[in-house]
Amino acid sequence: MQREQSQHFLGLRTLEDISSIILHSHDLQETLDNIVTIVAKRMGSEVCSIYLLEDDGETLVLKATKGLSKNAVGKIMMKTSEGLSGLVVQTRDMVTTDNAPAHPRYKYFKHSKEERYLSFLGLPLFERKTPIGVIVVQTVAARSFTEVEISILRTITFQISSIVLNAKLLDSIQSKEQERAYYEQELARLKTHRPSDGGREQPETKSKTRALGGTAVSPGFSHGKVYILDRFSDKVIKVAKVGSVEEELHKFRIALEKVTIQTIYMEKRVSELLSEDDASIFHTHLMILEDRGFLNKINDLIDQGVGATRAVHEVVQGYIEVFSAMEDPYLRERSADMEDIGRRIIDVLEGNENDGVKLKEKRVIVAEDIFPSDMAMLDHDKILGIVTEKGNIYSHAAIMAKSLGIPAVVGVKGLLHAANVKDQVIVDGTSGHIYLNPEKQVREEYLRLEKEYTIRLKELEPLRDLPAVTSDGMRILLRANIGLLSDVRTAVANGAEGVGLYRTEFPYMARTTFPNREEQASLYRKILEGFPGQPVNIRTLDIGGDKGLPYFSYPHEDNPFLGWRSIRVSLDEEEIFREQLAGILLAAPAGQATIMFPLISCLDEVRRIRSILNSVVAELCRQGHDVCGGLPMGIMVEVPAAVQIIDRLAAEVDYLSIGTNDLIQYLLAADRNNAKVKQYYEPYHPAVLHAIKRVADVGQRMGKKVSVCGEMAADPLNALLLVGMGVREFSLSAPSIPLVKQALRSHSLRLCQAMARKVLAFDTACDIKRYLAKRRKELFE
Ligand code: PEP
Ligand code: MG
Repeated sequence: MQREQSQHFLGLRTLEDISSIILHSHDLQETLDNIVTIVAKRMGSEVCSIYLLEDDGETLVLKATKGLSKNAVGKIMMKTSEGLSGLVVQTRDMVTTDNAPAHPRYKYFKHSKEERYLSFLGLPLFERKTPIGVIVVQTVAARSFTEVEISILRTITFQISSIVLNAKLLDSIQSKEQERAYYEQELARLKTHRPSDGGREQPETKSKTRALGGTAVSPGFSHGKVYILDRFSDKVIKVAKVGSVEEELHKFRIALEKVTIQTIYMEKRVSELLSEDDASIFHTHLMILEDRGFLNKINDLIDQGVGATRAVHEVVQGYIEVFSAMEDPYLRERSADMEDIGRRIIDVLEGNENDGVKLKEKRVIVAEDIFPSDMAMLDHDKILGIVTEKGNIYSHAAIMAKSLGIPAVVGVKGLLHAANVKDQVIVDGTSGHIYLNPEKQVREEYLRLEKEYTIRLKELEPLRDLPAVTSDGMRILLRANIGLLSDVRTAVANGAEGVGLYRTEFPYMARTTFPNREEQASLYRKILEGFPGQPVNIRTLDIGGDKGLPYFSYPHEDNPFLGWRSIRVSLDEEEIFREQLAGILLAAPAGQATIMFPLISCLDEVRRIRSILNSVVAELCRQGHDVCGGLPMGIMVEVPAAVQIIDRLAAEVDYLSIGTNDLIQYLLAADRNNAKVKQYYEPYHPAVLHAIKRVADVGQRMGKKVSVCGEMAADPLNALLLVGMGVREFSLSAPSIPLVKQALRSHSLRLCQAMARKVLAFDTACDIKRYLAKRRKELFE
């Protein structure tokens, strides 16, 4: 799964890059050029090209390429009845070959220098159901593309299609604006010649639609009336009245107290509404409000006769300047926290206490920036979308909007200048565009997109509460992989039957110190309460390798994945381990907790873990906690040694969970993050599939549950294959659950078993992939 996961990340990074391309490109051509460059880089291919269909629907034209001769752009044209790219449009399907020149549909174009490339992978681009072009990836070496690569490229095609569509819309809006501007100019010119006008200039007429670009930070579409969020301004500081030093000091003290109470309230509200992670920013605000250095600076200025309002403003401004100059974008964004605090203290000092914006109806919030405190006070049900002039993906508002599922675009230059109170706006949080006062054409396009988006979600919705059961009655459990408290909502919304893998390291990555047992227990409790009556499998810390904690120092290692990671760190740092075990045990009564240990490679580890666990249980019992029953204990099977001795391990634990991400990496000696060896990271390698089969068989024989947690199972076809191999439980990223469930409910266990038999009989990954590609077509298309 490492490869799958690293490729999954690769896919996400590519998608993120493509999103930022939209922001930084100015027209369709530049957008396409940037896309082919990024896709070629990410896919490790020498060539990536995009061909678009002309309006006749029959002629493909090379519009952008990385790798082929740039002179060929606009010149290579082919009918859809010609060439491999034409075949992609004709079949409306993927075309792939590892020897393109030998393919009967191969067509050579002079000047393209294409003959050097043996492998070809082409996927169609669609607008609704109509093909609009083709994206092609080519490599010099003869190679077959993995299922994961294909699925990444497939995802990218959706994004590209919508970019092409958006860019065309923008182009058409721009040309319409130019057209209108031309006619207005002409009209004005004619009017100046009219004697009745006396040659006066006509007032400038503003065109209606304004399309602006920003950073997409929370996906989805929304449209509605603008609500411009007002900010405190420098004006306040200029007019603020100044009393005596004592009066000003007293005013400041009172304001500080009020803001502190306000902040505590906000922290509570956001942690109830969203999660503790989301609320943790207010904890930082409280620390700033108590910071001696910060307070002394303000008090000193007041002592010198400066009014409280100005003193706060000056000190806060100083901090903002320091933060804004930081190179790290995350730290730079922290200047917004200082601004938030400053604004709130000044609001109180000036008697402008903010008890939240009361929206009467649903609106799109438009603001220079939205601070955490705004997000805490706004009525979330009334926010259709969020658009800000400042901010980036690290803004807290962005993070909160994402948690709340509110479409948001930040960093929209010129927003406040362009937007008016009476404007209507469309927010496209997926591509990062907004349209002020959209014209009919744009409005209709977005309404359609919104409708299709809702229909797609709706189609899968009825599945939510149905069990995952094959058509011949085999019950399969589909649980979620989660990392943050905010994932609970997504997991529940997608019908997860509990959690199969809770990665506990994630909540601790953003902290500055290791949380103690009570802090951990309170977080785990919240997760458990999110899944009443359903198991939550808590995995102990899996740090090291590619996951680090900023406050925990590691030795330098030449091979971190073969080094001090995961359970090895826990067993060496027993105090940290005991603290985590205690946290889990203390939280356990809140739900159905089970506890799982990563990277197990021998029985000694299991025995040591059990003895430490027993000792922590005993310690808590002595302290009067009700944890005496202990918890079901499982291990992750992700090291080849564990597969080799799986029967011995199974005898001493309650359940097994196969971590295909790591298992593939260790079985095949191919680093999950190293692009150079990605062709060795092969989920369909017979060694991987036989290892999974072996664990599933042993589990069945010994009555121990076996699940697969890892993105490999997120592909519906893989899920069918794994069911055929005897796996009855999966833990997946939550959004994958509905599709996997749909596949399981539409096919029989017998079919899965026949497919598994066939796959396990093949000798090579290539044979397996060829067979599965055929099955995919038959079963899903
Ligand atoms: C795995 O290795 O398959 C797994 C699920 O764990 P992680 O991806 O967290 O290493
Ligand atoms: Mg792992």
